[in-house]
Amino acid sequence: MAATEHRSSTSDSSGGSPTLRFLGAARSVTGSRFLLETPRARVLFDCGLFQGLKELRLRNWDPFPLPPERLDAVVLTHAHLDHVGYLPALVRGGFRGPAFCTANTAALAAIVLPDSGRLQQEDAAYANRKGFSKHTPALPLYTEADAQAALRRLRPVAFGVPVDVAPGVRATFRRAGHILGSAWVRVDLEDHSADTLLFSGDLGRSQHEILLPPEPPDAVATCVVESTYGNRRHDEALALTRFADAVARTAERRGAIVIPAFAVDRTEVMLLTLRRLVRAGRIPDLPVYVDSPMALAALAVYERAARDGDPEIRPEYRGDPAPFDPGGLIEAHSSDDSKAIHDAALPAIIISASGMATGGRVMHHLARRLPDARNSVVLVGYQAEGTRGRTLLRGATELKMLGRYVAVRAEIVDASGFSVHADGEEIAQWLASAPTAPRAAFVVHGEPEAAFAMQRTITERIGCLAVVPQYGERVRLD
Ligand SMILES: [Zn+2]
Repeated sequence: MAATEHRSSTSDSSGGSPTLRFLGAARSVTGSRFLLETPRARVLFDCGLFQGLKELRLRNWDPFPLPPERLDAVVLTHAHLDHVGYLPALVRGGFRGPAFCTANTAALAAIVLPDSGRLQQEDAAYANRKGFSKHTPALPLYTEADAQAALRRLRPVAFGVPVDVAPGVRATFRRAGHILGSAWVRVDLEDHSADTLLFSGDLGRSQHEILLPPEPPDAVATCVVESTYGNRRHDEALALTRFADAVARTAERRGAIVIPAFAVDRTEVMLLTLRRLVRAGRIPDLPVYVDSPMALAALAVYERAARDGDPEIRPEYRGDPAPFDPGGLIEAHSSDDSKAIHDAALPAIIISASGMATGGRVMHHLARRLPDARNSVVLVGYQAEGTRGRTLLRGATELKMLGRYVAVRAEIVDASGFSVHADGEEIAQWLASAPTAPRAAFVVHGEPEAAFAMQRTITERIGCLAVVPQYGERVRLD
């Protein structure tokens, strides 16, 4: 850590050098926000919401370290809430600049941000009804109207085309293959030609079901790289086997298979996986309910991208009008559609958000299905500390949800190898594919164990200085 201290500086001692502040996703997987400051510009890279543990969520309420109106621009890598979900709060706080992102990120943000505003309003209203907020009245962090205002800041840009995002700051978006629209961003600083940076955002995997793999990194001086799975090795084949077997077993005992899935991308990946397994005869052709308005809206964006032959989509799916229907796809749009699933004939598959069972319609399905041993819950994504998904993985026999305890008798299956995040080895390989190694890598977006494992891997494999920054830490880039 000596290197960090050496490179740290206060706002008064940067001596005109560009600096980077880690305002989130530092030793955690949430709230990605990195503030680049040069003598001429201030640009925020990603503008994520803190989710998960309460102590992290409370950070959403901390005042932004500088008046938001003083920011020149925001650059967004992709439309997951932990990367874009704070933008409405920033706009509410006075930010009036452009927020650059790819066109598909803008399309997906138009789905997730208003939904997030709605949820914050509902949570605040619920807290007021139940009287359990410390504040009276409880206030939403932002509203749906704030989210709409934030969407008006979005400036869609093309992949591969350098854009001047602020005085002396040029950004180029490259495919990250994590979700539709996702990018890693190369940054060139005009006044400091040696100071090139790269923000990995969340990095996808070479075998994403529908997206092309990440583009190899450029040679840059400083790399800010994610480490969600820095201490893990994905075993795709094992995850697929566990998933297929769980579906087949549950179908045999005529149960329900509940799959909590992130509304954006994971739903698409799971539908394609089901389609593949059905066609291979590994699982029966079952009704598949997608019960999440947001997931269905995102699905429409993916379908459009496939139909229109979007360059992010794998060639084999370009022009396919219905790549995501395994056979028995049923879309549950209204809350009546959702409730009707409770009485559906079994076996059936229910894909619903949120992905870590922190809220959303999946809560009702879990509350109904967990107590019955014929059912299964298949966890296919990352389950952060403090979430119900993580509690289930740990083998809990009861789970608190919707204000009461529910017995857990259903089979809980860990199939997290379906990740759309690269694992530690894949990130190392990706970094190693740059023409030259960076001078320094800042390892972010990982819980401490994962981040420090990634730091060791980078040190050994890439040979550059690797640092796991702390929350709020500021470093000079020269
Ligand atoms: Zn992401």
